[in-house]
Order: sequence, then C-alpha cells, then structure tokens
Amino acid sequence: MSLEVNPVELSVVIPLYNEEPNIDRLFERLESVLERLNTTYEIVCVNDGSNDDTFTCLIRHHDRNPAIKAINLSRNFGKEIAITAAIDYATGATVVPIDADLQDPPELIEQMLAKWREGYDVVYATRRSRRGESWLKRLTADVFYRTIGKMTPVPIPRNTGDFRLLDRRVVEALKQMPERTRFMKGLFTWVGFKQTSVLFDREPRFKGNTTFNYWKLWNFALDGITSFSFLPLKVWSYIGLIISLISLLYASFLIIRTLMYGNPVPGYASLMVAVLFLGGIQLLTLGIIGEYLGRVYEEVKKRPLYFVREFYGFGKNSEIDKEFYKNLK
Ligand code: UDP
Ligand code: MG
Repeated sequence: MSLEVNPVELSVVIPLYNEEPNIDRLFERLESVLERLNTTYEIVCVNDGSNDDTFTCLIRHHDRNPAIKAINLSRNFGKEIAITAAIDYATGATVVPIDADLQDPPELIEQMLAKWREGYDVVYATRRSRRGESWLKRLTADVFYRTIGKMTPVPIPRNTGDFRLLDRRVVEALKQMPERTRFMKGLFTWVGFKQTSVLFDREPRFKGNTTFNYWKLWNFALDGITSFSFLPLKVWSYIGLIISLISLLYASFLIIRTLMYGNPVPGYASLMVAVLFLGGIQLLTLGIIGEYLGRVYEEVKKRPLYFVREFYGFGKNSEIDKEFYKNLK
C-alpha cells in the first residue's frame, strides 16, 4: 500500500497501552502546541490492545477533532510494533512518535520542526535529566548504553527514546525494514540521513505505571544487542582458542613433569575444576547461540508484524479503508 500523498506537514504518532487516564491531558497539551505551530497536522493513535477504555476514549476525541485518527490493533503487540503500525499509516511530511504518558513534552515539537526546516532529516530529543526514574533504572540504562556502544559500530544515542522527528525520506527507509525484532532506537540511527538533537528534561509519568519492568528491559537490551552486534557470537572462537592454548601449555608441562619426576598424585581437584569450568563455558556459549537462533527463527517465520482490527478517521474512501474493507469481504 503506498501513501505517496503528503496532505499534512506533521504526523504525531502515539502508541497507547492502558493510557486512559492520560489521554485527555495529552490531547489538551498536544493540540494547544499544534494549533500554535501554524501547520497542517494529524495525530495517529495506535491502541496496542489496551484492557481499559483507551480506544473508546480515542474515538470520542476523533469525533471532536477529525485530525485525531485511531487504529485498534488486534491485541497487545508491544510498543515498538505499535509505533511501527502508526508510522505505516502516517501520511505527514514529517513523523513524530511520542509517548502517551506525557513524559515527552509536546512543546519540544516546535524546536524539532525548526531544525527540520533548517534541513535536518532526523531530530531526536535527548534527555538532559531523567526525573522520576529510580537510581537502579538510571544505572542499568547507563550500563546498557556503555555495553552496546562498545559492541556495535552503529552509534546508539544515549538517553534518547523514540521521541524524535523523522522526515518522510527516513520514514520510507524505515518502512523497508522487514525485521520483527524492532529495536527502534538502533534502526532510527542505522538508516543514516542528516541527524541532529535537541535537549529536554524528561518528566515523570503523568498517571499510571510503566509497563517496562526489569525483565522486559533485560530482554529489550538483548534485542538491541543481538540486532546490532555479532560480538557475543564471535567472541567464543577467541576464548576457545585462548583456552586451547593454555591447555596445550599445561599439557606440555604435565608431560615433562611426569617424565622427569614420575606421576606422584592423581590431579583430581584440577581435573574437576577444568571439567566444570569448560562445561560452564560450553553451556553459556550454547545459550548465546540460542538467543540468536531464536531470533533467526522469529524472522524466518515471516509473520505479519501486527493486525489491525479497526480504523477510525482514515475516511471510508481513503486508500487504507478501501483496502481494509475489501479484505473483510
Ligand atoms: N506502550 C505500548 N505498548 C506496550 C507498552 C507500552 O504501546 O505494550 C506505550 C505506552 O502506552 C506509552 C509508551 O509506550 O505511550 C511508553 O510506555 P511506558 O511509559 O510504559 O514506558 P517508559 O516511559 O517507562 O519507557
Ligand atoms: Mg513512560
């Protein structure tokens, strides 16, 4: 499906998962900013299988302001895929993904647009501070960025979320990436183009709780690393080589010692240590191969990234709805 027309200049895209208490305040702030900007805009909201009334709330806002469009996914697919869906259906000359919990200040869009008009293709918002986040989250985030920074040549900007402005060129490039493991921060950088940043202070969440617990974050980090680095796979050949060399030296030492002094005590302790150590390393290696293999399996299945249940605001006659209703018959 091609969306070559650019009827609006700015598409704000929002993934929402159980964000009902934030929606009214979100649109209030967002719309006041957008009205001030003196530009044409649309707000593409993706309801990512919420259990609360997020979607009915979105429809209510769509009825009030037709620039607000809503897409209802068939279930919860996760934030990265929800953003992907929103980007697929956004038509603007620029696209700005933003969190629904008001942690990303909509007021920043004005500065982003100004940079875009100067000729930048990607303007990402970098957090000057992370208010409302625990020291543990800040520490783990710091360790993550350091680690991934050392492991991949793709520079993943620190303290940067998905809040950024993307030119249509970049959006079209992103749409060509078919992968299922969508580590957006990395993909956004990987595509290249002319990038710059603006600074902002990240606010605490307006209402509700984050759904990203440490287990999810850990898996998110693994996704990031495995999508952008082969280092964990490659490193084992070198470690194996080093261990073999050491074993060879040790074996020569044992042979010489036995030849010179005979075999005084059987080396039970060293044997156990060597066996357990090597066993541990082998399991670890297998586990890492498994992490990659599992992801390869996900990719080769080539399932669609998401399914849409309903569209609101794209117009019965729009390309999207025509195709959608055709498929229903
Ligand atoms: N989100 C989503 N699907 C999910 C989890 C989160 O669409 O499965 C959305 C959520 O509604 C919000 C954004 O992603 O708009 C960021 O989520 P959250 O605030 O929980 O994450 P954090 O700010 O802690 O990274
Ligand atoms: Mg948040």
